[in-house]
Amino acid sequence: MMQDDIFQKIIDREISANIVFEDERCLAFRDLHPQAPTHVLIIPKKAIPTHSDLTDDDRDLLGHMHLVAARLAKDFGLNDGYRLVVNCLDRGGQTVPHLHFHLLGGRDMTWPPG
Ligand code: AMP
Repeated sequence: MMQDDIFQKIIDREISANIVFEDERCLAFRDLHPQAPTHVLIIPKKAIPTHSDLTDDDRDLLGHMHLVAARLAKDFGLNDGYRLVVNCLDRGGQTVPHLHFHLLGGRDMTWPPG
C-alpha cells in the first residue's frame, strides 16, 4: 500500500535521514530498513511519483541518477557487484510514492527476486 511522500519531507529536511550524497538534482540516503549491508535510496528532488510517470523531460535526470548510483557503488566499495532496483506501483512493491532507486550491495543477490 502506498503511503505519503515521506521522501519529500526528507528533501525538505522536515524529517531526518542518513544522507550520503546530495546535489542540485538528487539526494541519496540510507534505507531505514536495510535489506543488505549497503542499502541506499537515490531519489530525484523533482516529485515524480513513480517510474511509470517518467517523461522525455526526465531523460537527463535519469541518466544523472544512474551515474550517481554507479559513483556511490564505487564509494561504498561494491566492486564485486550490486543490484539497482526500482519498484513501481502496488504490484511492483512500491510503498513510497516518490521515484527511488534502491542500491543494494555487500552480499550475494538471488534471482528471481521475491
Ligand atoms: P519501496 O517499497 O520501493 O517504495 O521502497 C521504500 C523504501 O523506503 C523501503 O525500503 C523503506 O525501508 C524505506 N523507507 C521508508 N521510510 C524511510 C525513511 N524515513 N528513511 C529512509 N528510508 C525509508
